[in-house]
Amino acid sequence: MLRLLIAVDGSEHSRNAIDAAARLGREGEVEALFVHVREGPTYHGDLTPREYERIGEQSRLHQTQVLDGALAHARQVGLVRVEALAEEGTPDVDIPRVATQRSADMIVMGTRGLGAVGALLLGSTAQRVVHNASVPVLLVK
Ligand code: ATP
Ligand code: MG
Repeated sequence: MLRLLIAVDGSEHSRNAIDAAARLGREGEVEALFVHVREGPTYHGDLTPREYERIGEQSRLHQTQVLDGALAHARQVGLVRVEALAEEGTPDVDIPRVATQRSADMIVMGTRGLGAVGALLLGSTAQRVVHNASVPVLLVK
């Protein structure tokens, strides 16, 4: 059984990563753990507590949508053993941490994500995960 940690952010590249993961083994041979890391607002000095709470709500809702979307997509492409992990923290630190804690054989992720810089070869999360991870990282275009 190949145990994969698939990092998802709702981007086209991360959907491609799900397709690539499904091709790594026959149905039932791959166990897919989907992780999304929710980042808290970095600056909130000028927000009221109510506004701050509202941003948190939106961010949790977004996380649920990203993970539900990933699970639905995964089942469509034949991944049957799936689990969703909703994490809060810093993606490039917490994706490698979860991979180790959950004994994943490999991390699967997109080369780029939702970031605006279209010309970028490799997004900053992808770069830092490769740097921080102690397991192989499959980067999918
Ligand atoms: P940048 O974030 O540097 O502006 P980007 O958004 O284009 O660039 P990355 O963030 O590195 O690129 O995204 C690469 C891959 O990392 C995505 O396809 C996805 O697999 C994963 N990823 C990015 N953000 C998250 C996150 N918050 N939680 C889980 N996985 C993520
Ligand atoms: Mg990004």
